[in-house]
Amino acid sequence: MNLPNHASVVVIGGGVMGCSTLYHLAKAGVSDAILLERNELTSGTTWHSAAQVRALRSSRNLTDLIRYSISLYSSLEAETGQSTGWINEGSLSIATNPDRFSFIRRQESLAKLYGVSANSIPVDEARERWPMMNSDDVIGAVWSPEDGRVGPSDLCAALVKGARARGAKIFEHCGVTGIKTRGNKVVGLETSAGEIDCDAIAICTGLWSRENAAMAGVEVPLWPCEHFYLLTNPIDGISGNLPTLSDHDSHLYIRDDSGGLLVGCFEPLGKPIAAEQIGHDFAFQLLPEDWDHFEPMLENALHRLPCLTDADIRMLLNGPESFTPDGSFLLGESAETRGLFLGCGMNSVGVATGGGAGMALAHCMVHGHTPTDLHEADPKRFASCFNSVAALTARVPEILGTHYAIHYPGIQLNSARDLKLTPLHARWLDHKAHFGQFYGWERPLYFDCKQEPELTFGKPDWFDQVAREVAYAHREAAIFDQSSFGKISVTGTDAEQFLNRVCANDMTRPPGRAIYTAMLNQRGGYESDLTALRLTSDEYRLYVGSSAIRRDLAWLERHRQPDEQVEIIDQTDDYAVLGLMGPKAADIVASLGAAELNQLGYFHCREATLAGIPVLAVRLSYVGESGWELCCRKSAVEALFDALLAAGAQPAGIFAQTSMRIEKRFLAFGHDLDTDLNPLQAGLGFTVDWESDFIGRAALLEQRKQPATNRLVSIVFDDIEAQPLGNEPVYQQDKIIGKTTSAAFGYRVGRPLAIALVDSQVVDKLDGSKVDVDIAGSQNAGTIHTRAAWDPDGSALRAAIG
Ligand SMILES: Cc1cc2nc3c(=O)[nH]c(=O)nc-3n(C[C@H](O)[C@H](O)[C@H](O)COP(=O)(O)OP(=O)(O)OC[C@H]3O[C@@H](n4cnc5c(N)ncnc54)[C@H](O)[C@@H]3O)c2cc1C
Repeated sequence: MNLPNHASVVVIGGGVMGCSTLYHLAKAGVSDAILLERNELTSGTTWHSAAQVRALRSSRNLTDLIRYSISLYSSLEAETGQSTGWINEGSLSIATNPDRFSFIRRQESLAKLYGVSANSIPVDEARERWPMMNSDDVIGAVWSPEDGRVGPSDLCAALVKGARARGAKIFEHCGVTGIKTRGNKVVGLETSAGEIDCDAIAICTGLWSRENAAMAGVEVPLWPCEHFYLLTNPIDGISGNLPTLSDHDSHLYIRDDSGGLLVGCFEPLGKPIAAEQIGHDFAFQLLPEDWDHFEPMLENALHRLPCLTDADIRMLLNGPESFTPDGSFLLGESAETRGLFLGCGMNSVGVATGGGAGMALAHCMVHGHTPTDLHEADPKRFASCFNSVAALTARVPEILGTHYAIHYPGIQLNSARDLKLTPLHARWLDHKAHFGQFYGWERPLYFDCKQEPELTFGKPDWFDQVAREVAYAHREAAIFDQSSFGKISVTGTDAEQFLNRVCANDMTRPPGRAIYTAMLNQRGGYESDLTALRLTSDEYRLYVGSSAIRRDLAWLERHRQPDEQVEIIDQTDDYAVLGLMGPKAADIVASLGAAELNQLGYFHCREATLAGIPVLAVRLSYVGESGWELCCRKSAVEALFDALLAAGAQPAGIFAQTSMRIEKRFLAFGHDLDTDLNPLQAGLGFTVDWESDFIGRAALLEQRKQPATNRLVSIVFDDIEAQPLGNEPVYQQDKIIGKTTSAAFGYRVGRPLAIALVDSQVVDKLDGSKVDVDIAGSQNAGTIHTRAAWDPDGSALRAAIG
């Protein structure tokens, strides 16, 4: 085997992800890229994939990856002469209960937003498209004509042929046994056939990626589950290809296979299996059949497909596939090691996504960022606590089951909970909190929860509790637990210069000031939005989003210049933060001995002592009521909470906070803000210091020359019963002009509302424009406001602060 001494990029793994990444690297001009596969191409999971390709995903950019796959799979033969086995017969999704019907109608609305064909069809038409199905209990269906399936091995052969034609090389029977790093940067690797120097590595090793990435000190929280489909011998009446039938209420997908049927499942609780148990020489192999495990699914299948009763069963295929703690894959550079990129954890959509995901990974390796925002797949989104064997083996079986679950608003996962508790957890239990998990943290969603809430697309079970908590904050005083915020200390003589470069706002403000700012990428898009407290001339504390800590730390570290005197320390676990908000907050701090806080100006911070507890107080509000964020040592927060409670404040949860921030049009990263959106589009141009030389300035200056095409606005709904959730299309005169990004009921304005990203060029005047939001197929009228729905000019807040 003639391995080169050096390759600029080495792709490890010859499944669909590796082959697609190699193809796209070669296409992007990286002609010395090589792929190493320890067995043979496709021999891992790819060869036995059911290989269905369904375009619609939860976000536009994830959907676009699959649409890219579809166009690639249908055109590769013309380019390479190798067929991919692409069959475009469409897919049919059926609903057998009202909530599923509502859910698939929501998906149909989403499809319109993303430009994917998907239409509701009557049950009769569904039966015509799938005559063999028992449709007695079917109440609705959606038909998606663009979907199809591919031959996974043929697809890889075509990708490899296209890559080779552009100079890429493939080495089979060459296993990677070590990854060499220097100064947290990839420099090469060890293989069964010798060593290679390289500048970057793509780990596309499927279920083995956790152990492979560990060779470079990188955490990859994924774990395999067994994944089943039944195959029958030919059945009378099946000729040619059928559409895929998705019966998600029965946890099933069904299609034809060689004249018979293939019936696959995402059962409610999967079966995890350790990668070590599967082994390294697991090539073109399968796991043992497990009829006991499959039996409930078989019963569902017999109900849906009466013809199965007399069919000859060929086999129950059982293959391993990797799943992640949130059901989305990992794509991008790792936080820990520069040059170590991940393209793995495909959660059973690797063949559908592989074409687009390989393209995006290659783009990321060549350009330093994905072609569009893919924060859902960012490897830096997981806390370390998810990488333990206990957490993974508890979580991934549930994730397999959620593949076909109805995504109700407020739904929470049951497994791998209590991984990270805020220091007030015991108090929150006393207050009957209903918890939600964010970056592993258990955060109270709302309080006074007497029983597990019933999930619905209608008025939520927690409506009254949240109303009460908003009322505390609006009329009295509420305590919000913000301890899970990432807290980053940036110190050193060059801290100001460093942050002025990395952040878009003016960071030279004097000690005692708080600064709302953004870290932008070179394209002017948001990497993070954060609040910085300037504590001394060479010390800042940054409050970043709870889920952003790993990503923000990596961004800061990567932009520190070698000669800069700057120390960056994660202090998240050292401190707790309580938001004390509401008209009675002023009296409360005075009664606890810190009356001086009432003299503190908006966006100023200072130290104070409340009930004998030292705090760093910053006057600002994420909910639009006057108050402070009080930061104290973790060990002191129970005493601080008890004192605030005794002085008259009441706890309020995340749902109340979210409702209030949406009323105030305060934006959240991952919902309203992402790496493709800039501060001008967000209406946050005032947070940019145009004079300072920050990252992204050049791009932003260019964008400032033109009127912004997209704008984040508020929408207030006419109908008090409307149930927007976010991610719904916004129409004006039958034309889609944007989408909602966050939504909630606004208790202070007494109406449902949303934040929406709209195309500001299609309407003459945004403010006051009437629009319709498509919620599960029904149009809901609303009015656009370019400013906040509540207290738009901030006068109520200013009056409260005095
Ligand atoms: C039963 C079943 C049905 C499925 N149905 C669908 C479907 O309908 N649609 C869909 O989109 N997806 C489906 N999937 C999922 C899809 O098949 C996978 O997501 C996809 O094949 C994963 O591809 P991969 O390239 O990430 O991993 P793999 O195909 O497993 O490739 C990884 C490769 O890395 C190699 N490797 C590992 N370690 C090393 C090392 N140290 N050195 C060198 N090489 C190494 C392995 O030998 C392996 O060949 C299904 C999966 C299963 C199990």
